[in-house]
Formats: sequence, structure tokens, C-alpha cells
Amino acid sequence: MSVRRTPSWVSDVPRIQTRLPDPEEYLRFLQIHCKPSPQSSVQMTTYDIPKTARAAVIKQFKQDVVLENSYPVPSPADLKPGECLVKISYAGVCHSDLHVKDNDWGFPSPLPLVGGHEGIGTVVAIGEHTVDSPVKLGDRVGLKWVARSCLKCCPMTVTHANGCSVNGTWADYVVGWTDYVQPIPESLDSAAATPILCAGITVYKAIKQSNANIGDWIAISGAGGGLGHLAVQYAVAMGLRVIAIDTGESKRKLCIDQLGAEKWVDFMESKDVVKDVTEAAGGLGPHAAVIAVGNAIPFNEALLYLRAAGTLVACLNIVGSSTGNRQEMTEALDIVAQGKVKCHFEVREWDEVNRHVRRKDHRKSGIEIGGSQTRDLIASDELTNRRAEIMDKTEDALGNESDQL
Ligand SMILES: [Zn+2]
Ligand SMILES: [Zn+2]
Repeated sequence: MSVRRTPSWVSDVPRIQTRLPDPEEYLRFLQIHCKPSPQSSVQMTTYDIPKTARAAVIKQFKQDVVLENSYPVPSPADLKPGECLVKISYAGVCHSDLHVKDNDWGFPSPLPLVGGHEGIGTVVAIGEHTVDSPVKLGDRVGLKWVARSCLKCCPMTVTHANGCSVNGTWADYVVGWTDYVQPIPESLDSAAATPILCAGITVYKAIKQSNANIGDWIAISGAGGGLGHLAVQYAVAMGLRVIAIDTGESKRKLCIDQLGAEKWVDFMESKDVVKDVTEAAGGLGPHAAVIAVGNAIPFNEALLYLRAAGTLVACLNIVGSSTGNRQEMTEALDIVAQGKVKCHFEVREWDEVNRHVRRKDHRKSGIEIGGSQTRDLIASDELTNRRAEIMDKTEDALGNESDQL
């Protein structure tokens, strides 16, 4: 019979005191941390808000979105308590926008509908009688897939989704909910932060769900794509060892030289992807795999190369559990603010939106999920300068010909 001995290190671990909180202490804690914000009644607006502005509107499924120049802007007086009006400066084009536009999910969006579910802008009005708003006029905020939750109907994340069931971010002015708009860390550039609101949180959450620990191997399929290049950086920032799976020399360079992946498997050149990935992870296979492509083959391969009890996570689309909650959104942005993750993107003119929304062009041009900003409402000089600067940096990064999200 073996004798169970207490390992020596146990005595070194400080004892954690577990006790119920003292009620008075707890009340003090609540008073400090949960006190209502000082502005219990808010000023509706100090901004000059036009009656109409631009919006890219889905009018018919499977058709181009219609660019309206005089779409009605909700009047501040019409905002309900808890609603706010956001003047958008950047909005993203995401693969899910195509699914909404083509009605691929069997959730018929109410048309006409302003598309888009990533956007950053400024709060320019807050509904009258809004109490305890966590945001105030002038705050920079992000709008993401989940527009709000009514706490009644919400197991399905499409029922209050920007650009899917409520008017989204492809507009100069968008209605948001003060409790749901996402504060953006000060140090973050609006354009760089916009794709994090969907693509970034999708992969951040996927990696968290993989339960991989520091030093574990994680394989990322589609590592050089719009989702994948963010996944590689988040994984590296979380202390994971990355095996990047994709194809082509430019993607290899991107993944290994720029993003911090340790191993590279080119799925086109490899004679046996399963064997190569297993070997890249020391012969036992990776602890986790994140699939950032919309194609069945990598799933089957991952089932074969993952080590025993390994975890397979798909970030196929953002419906369901793959999008993160508000806490995770804050975490994902903080990691970007720390400079550990940088999204590669291109800033485009407002009227180019259809080029990226049309399914074929979207794939051919490699404008992937969250990989592109379609608009800029700032002065055009600034836009031109920005474009030159950004395109220089990212020209190679998005030269994608594979069928990635
Ligand atoms: Zn998206
Ligand atoms: Zn609901």
C-alpha cells in the first residue's frame, strides 16, 4: 500500500483565508464600486446633428447595398431612455455582413436595414431620462455585434445584433445603447481598434475557450488571414506556442517573422499536414487547434493531429458562443492597447463598400473578416494620408487567395 505524503512545496504555499465578507465591509465595497455615476440625468446633446446623413442600406437580400446620402438620422428627442446616438468615424466589413445580406442564416433581417457590426465613433446624444449612463457626450465608443440584451428573448445573439436585426454601423449616425457601447482605451487608434470589435474578440474568445495554458502548442489554421493573423498574435501574447498553418511565402513571413509563430506548415506544399503538425508540436500534437477558415478540411485534420484531450475551437462565425462578452471585449482591446496585437487593415472610401460586400470580390481581394475598414468620415485629406501610410505597411499582409473568412 502506498503512503500518500504531502509534497514539500505545499508548506510554502500561503494559506488562503476563506470567510464570508463582513456585511458592513461588503456594503462599503458596494458603495465604492457600484455607486451610480454622478450624472443621473443627462444632457441630451450639445452637438449639431443633421436630419439626414449617409448610410449603406440592405434593401433586398442578395443585392448590392444601397448607398444613401440622405438617410434619416434619429433625432435626439426621439431616443428612448438608455439609447445614445453615435457619430461613426470608422466601420468594418466582416464576412458575417455577407451572410446577413444574402440571408444565409435563415434569420431574415428586417429590411431595409443599415448593415455593419463593427464601428467606432463619438457619443453625440443620449436619450432623455437615461439614468446612470456609463458614457457621456463626447466619449469615444465602439459598437459590436451584440447591440444590447433585453434579458428576455436573448439566447439567440441575432435578435439584437447590429447590422442584422437593428440598424448597424455603415452610417454616419447609429443608435447605440449606453450600457452596451464599448469604451475604447485612449491610446488606441480608432481605425486599428475597429476590427477588434468583431474579428479580434472572436479569436480572443476562441483561444480562451481552447483552455490552452502558457507554453502549450496551439495550431492555427488560416494563420495569415483576417482572423488568423489576430489569433496568432493573441496566442503569442497569452504565452502559447503557435504552429501557423496557411500557404505561400508571404504568409509564412508574416506569421513567423512578424507575428511570432514558432512553426509553419504550408498546407499546399505539405504531403501530410497531420504528420507535419504533429511533429511541429514535438511529436505528440498540439494541445489546441483554432480553425479560422471556412472550409471543412482543416477540421478533419485537426481531429487527427490534436494530442489526446486536445481542444478544437472553430471561429466560423460570430453567432452563438463564439463571440465574447463585454468583459472579454475589454480584455481583447486592452491587449491591443498594450501593443501586443496589431490588426492589419486597409482604409477604404465610403462608396467602395459594395466592392467588399460582394461575396466574390470579398474573397478574391482577401478582404477578410474584420480585415478592412470601408469608410472614413474624417476630412478627406486625413483619409488620403492615412491610406498611404496604412497600405504601405499592410500590402503583403492581405494578399490572400485562399477561401478564408
Ligand atoms: Zn463580424
Ligand atoms: Zn432580447
